[in-house]
Amino acid sequence: MFQQSSGDSNESLVENMCNSNLITHPLVESAFKVDRSQYAPREPYKDSPQLLSHQATISAPHMHAKAVNSLLPFLLPKDEIVGVKGRPRRVLDIGSGSGFLVHVFAELVGETGVVVGVDHIEELRNLGETNMRKSDEGIELLNSGRVHFRLGDGRKGWSGQSSTDADKEDGWDAIHVGAGAIRLHDELVRQLRSPGRLFIPVAEEESWFSDQYIWTVDKDEKGNVTKTKHYSAKYVWLMGAPEGPLGASVEDSSERL
Ligand code: SAH
Repeated sequence: MFQQSSGDSNESLVENMCNSNLITHPLVESAFKVDRSQYAPREPYKDSPQLLSHQATISAPHMHAKAVNSLLPFLLPKDEIVGVKGRPRRVLDIGSGSGFLVHVFAELVGETGVVVGVDHIEELRNLGETNMRKSDEGIELLNSGRVHFRLGDGRKGWSGQSSTDADKEDGWDAIHVGAGAIRLHDELVRQLRSPGRLFIPVAEEESWFSDQYIWTVDKDEKGNVTKTKHYSAKYVWLMGAPEGPLGASVEDSSERL
């Protein structure tokens, strides 16, 4: 069904995603003008994932759209939603891969926001940044400090392990995990702001053969946490870095969902 959204240009891809209601908000439509050809190594306008390297893929456009739709209330500057000035948005993209979603998130958070992309493979961390440097807008986002790409184990979130300002601050309005987690890592929930939302594919059972389901975890203004299971998905696994044992588990005591 989603193949119907494929296009022969970025414009037609976005138009088709609008026609199939994958994109319904004008600001999301605008953010998806980021040209996928700068991020996907081949068939950029096809609505399917494309291989990058290290078995990573750039997700299909419809998966990107679904993730953005889900996180949207926590991406837009608060004055877009309630007409009052809020504190700047802070967004974390774990498993940044191609960097495409980092760019889209940066368009949505506006001039005051900060987006940090984390990948655990250096070549892929660099790929996101290199891809972003293909456009003037991308260069501006990097140079202005609104976007950072970091190397790290995303299962631990990101809490500013470098000396630079932007990612030293605490907490995230939105955390997107672009890889399937074997369990819901408590640390990611802990790093959510109140309010904030985590979007994460999680294994149904603790096995690399398990099905994955998209979960959202909401933290409300009082810090109450609500976990909601959505639809099934198939992402690359969120795992230990390649030089360690496959799937080396991060030290945490997160419970199964
Ligand atoms: N959102 C990206 C998806 C890339 S695929 C895109 O559409 O381009 C998943 C990515 O998760 C890969 O780049 C992989 O290297 C990364 N990844 C897997 N385990 C990770 C971990 N523990 N920490 C950070 N990144 C991880």
